Amino acid sequence: MKRSQKDIDSRRAARRKQISGTLEEWKSSAFDNALQQFDTAARKLKLSENQIAMVKQPRRVTEVMLPVRMDDGRIEVFKAYRVQHNIARGPAKGGIRFHQDVNVDEVKALAFWMTYKCAVVGIPMGGGKGGVVVDPRTLSEGEKERLSRRYMAEMIDLFGPDRDVPAPDVNTGPQVMSWMMDTYSMHHHNYVPSVITGKPLEIGGSEGRRSATSLGIAFCIRRACEKLGMKLQGARVAVQGFGNVGSYAAKFLQDAGCTVVAICDVYGAYHDPGGIDVDKAMAHVARKGSLQGFAAPRLKDPMKILELPVEILIPAALENQITGKNAGRIQARIIAEGANGPTTPEADRILDAKGAFVVPDILCNAGGVTVSYLEWVQNRMGYYWTEERVNKDLKRIIETAFDRVYDTMKKFRTDMRIAAFIVAIQRVAEASEMRGLYA
Ligand code: NAD
Repeated sequence: MKRSQKDIDSRRAARRKQISGTLEEWKSSAFDNALQQFDTAARKLKLSENQIAMVKQPRRVTEVMLPVRMDDGRIEVFKAYRVQHNIARGPAKGGIRFHQDVNVDEVKALAFWMTYKCAVVGIPMGGGKGGVVVDPRTLSEGEKERLSRRYMAEMIDLFGPDRDVPAPDVNTGPQVMSWMMDTYSMHHHNYVPSVITGKPLEIGGSEGRRSATSLGIAFCIRRACEKLGMKLQGARVAVQGFGNVGSYAAKFLQDAGCTVVAICDVYGAYHDPGGIDVDKAMAHVARKGSLQGFAAPRLKDPMKILELPVEILIPAALENQITGKNAGRIQARIIAEGANGPTTPEADRILDAKGAFVVPDILCNAGGVTVSYLEWVQNRMGYYWTEERVNKDLKRIIETAFDRVYDTMKKFRTDMRIAAFIVAIQRVAEASEMRGLYA
């Protein structure tokens, strides 16, 4: 049955209203925050003006309009972006996000963080990010497929295994990656799995990719507990966001003996001091598509999940959740950033003064891009590893990076975020200088 335009509009308006409540803070500039983080680290590193000119700003920002035929015959046009921030150390790497609030400022910030994320864990790739301004919940499966294929087709010259290798992000997953890989392969009359990562196993995905970001978070939290002399066993955990990153992070910590006391998604927040059964919550999401209707005590104000009495807090939703307004009320000792950019610079100062230990996004959630890199390597070899082998490499890479950042923090008497940027900026600046300027 065909939907009327009025029906479609009111459905979209209702969905927007439903999600807008918790997103007020999100509108502050993520890219400004990213540049502030850069400037602080660059000052400590005493970078020259020339070095800054080479590594601070994005190298290429592409904006396109994607016409897509909807199921009812209408053509709708969606704004989309791809930003390549820096490619001195290798091809651009970074996910593609489908979200109604995507904007160029946000994509630039996310691409910036990817450059330094790849550098901090030492994988030979640069930084990129993409986004489409769309609420994917308003799309049918067919509409989503046509949008995904059009995204790849419209910017196909930007992408390639040695140019720019996208991956999943918020609201995109293995199926979207499959459609994009297929579109690229059809255009090149070749099977090219290494053009994109986060694919399903059947078409060149890597064992361990789906849970890699969260496993990396768990490795970082374990290391942080060791450094702080904290016990992981029995620690209380709150997780904001219950998608790919949040759900697996909660599961790994529950399996490690922590008590996950609170979880939430865009539909609602749940808090049970006695512990939430993460397996049940994951099964609920697998069945229903979200936490809506999950049988656990509800938190009236979902943002309060950040302020609960816990030892470990994992923001795993979106940017700018921990701000100058709520940072003072955060009780967690360890804040492990699953999301990109969840903490503003003002909040960082407050958390630092309180003695909270923030494991910054570019280190904490780098497990995803690390296994994406391992997927790309496997695609290029045409030889595939076991999950055990992948996770062993992931552990080595994340723990080595954590220790390097921790030692840098001590050496420069700074916090973990600025230390991570110091390690990463140094590597990107050195690579840029060695390559020099072409023409
Ligand atoms: P996802 O789409 O699978 O899940 C996002 C989750 O956050 C959903 O449960 C959604 O309902 C929830 N959410 C969104 N807005 C919210 C709000 N205002 N309040 C509470 N919950 C909200 O996405 P994901 O892949 O899990 O990514 C989450 C974050 O992690 C993003 O910042 C992403 O950039 C970052 N990240 C993801 C990966 C990865 O491998 N997927 C890697 C590194 C970083």
